[in-house]
Amino acid sequence: METILQKDVMFDVEKIRSDFPSLQIKVNGHPLIYFDNGATTQKPQQVIDTISRYYSSSNANVHRGLHYLAEKATVGYENARKKAAGFINASSEKEIVFTSGTTAGINLIAHGWGDKFLKDNDEIILTEMEHHSNIVPWHMLAKRTGIHLRFAEIDDNGVLKIEHLKSLISSKTRLIVFTQMSNVLGTINPVKEITELAHRQDIKVVVDGAQSVPNMKVDVQDLDCDFLTFSAHKMVGPTGIGVLYAKKEILEDMDPLMGGGEMIETVSKETATWAAIPHKFEAGTPNIAGAFGLSAAIDYLEKIGMHHIYTYKKRLTDYAIDNMKRIAGIKIFGNSKERGSAISFRLQNVHPFDLAQFLDQFGIAVRAGHHCAQPLMKRLDVSATSRASLYFYNTFQEVDIFVDKLEKAVRFFG
Ligand code: PMP
Repeated sequence: METILQKDVMFDVEKIRSDFPSLQIKVNGHPLIYFDNGATTQKPQQVIDTISRYYSSSNANVHRGLHYLAEKATVGYENARKKAAGFINASSEKEIVFTSGTTAGINLIAHGWGDKFLKDNDEIILTEMEHHSNIVPWHMLAKRTGIHLRFAEIDDNGVLKIEHLKSLISSKTRLIVFTQMSNVLGTINPVKEITELAHRQDIKVVVDGAQSVPNMKVDVQDLDCDFLTFSAHKMVGPTGIGVLYAKKEILEDMDPLMGGGEMIETVSKETATWAAIPHKFEAGTPNIAGAFGLSAAIDYLEKIGMHHIYTYKKRLTDYAIDNMKRIAGIKIFGNSKERGSAISFRLQNVHPFDLAQFLDQFGIAVRAGHHCAQPLMKRLDVSATSRASLYFYNTFQEVDIFVDKLEKAVRFFG
């Protein structure tokens, strides 16, 4: 049994693994080694059971009925909101809007805030390491409004050039949008520093927390960001639900994107008025089962402790990188001191797609491709990379097997 018991980490990985049914499966006769956590994580039995229990004993529509099940569903749904607020230390659950995920959250900001407050020739600063879901909604906003996008550069270590970002800030800048943790390079960006910089000039900040929230303690009051988005499925929760956090006064000023039931106060033949936040952004029947599942996922992560998760993963990632570096002809993209556990790399003469198929023979799941970050691929001068992304249920032994198979791939393809 692998027990990591050191100064700051108290963690029984094997016990944790036994909570995850999908980690027990065999692929091509080998125990699954799931290193595609940046795409989505596996789910513990506790989350699966919570969703199943919701459907078997609490299923009803929320906010709509005065009966036993409707009350139970509504209380569970709203408790999930409180739990999500606590998880990121929002000052009120009113600052938590349930969305279908990070992508939906960013689109909601672009429409609800961008369309209302931005105009021709205003500027938004992004970074070269953004995921498409933090680029394309802004392209679309630019087409609608005539605003311009500026991209802050990264250096050869995959670290954001803060000085370049500063040089892009002008009286036209209205918004800075960036990922807290890169899904390709692993780089952790200095949110607090950028937020302070932005607020000095009355610029708002959008943080893409899709990779950071599952992997480290994120405190929105401490960061002082104006918006933050994340997805439950990347943090042992279900697909189809996520959170848009925004400061209360910002949500109050923003327009809803979708109209319909649940988001109104009054409706006449001519017009409608909106419900209070956050409900004015949640038109229609929401993902109630998803909210129950998200709540269970947060319970699961908090029981282990985000600090323990971060520390364990850091050790595991450092160990993986140190061992991978010994492989002849490997190139690892991203060398930030502060990093998450996405490790993008290329083996000389081996295409990432071929490598992914090769590793799959041994039950090892990695991602290959552009990782929804084509501008970053262009900056790195590659069309695709392989990516291993680790989570707290991965082990040092799995890393050893992975590195061994990479060496085998070099021999096989070489
Ligand atoms: N941003 C980042 C940094 C991501 O890694 C991802 C998912 N790969 C997203 C945004 C989009 O998340 P979702 O698909 O859950 O909306």
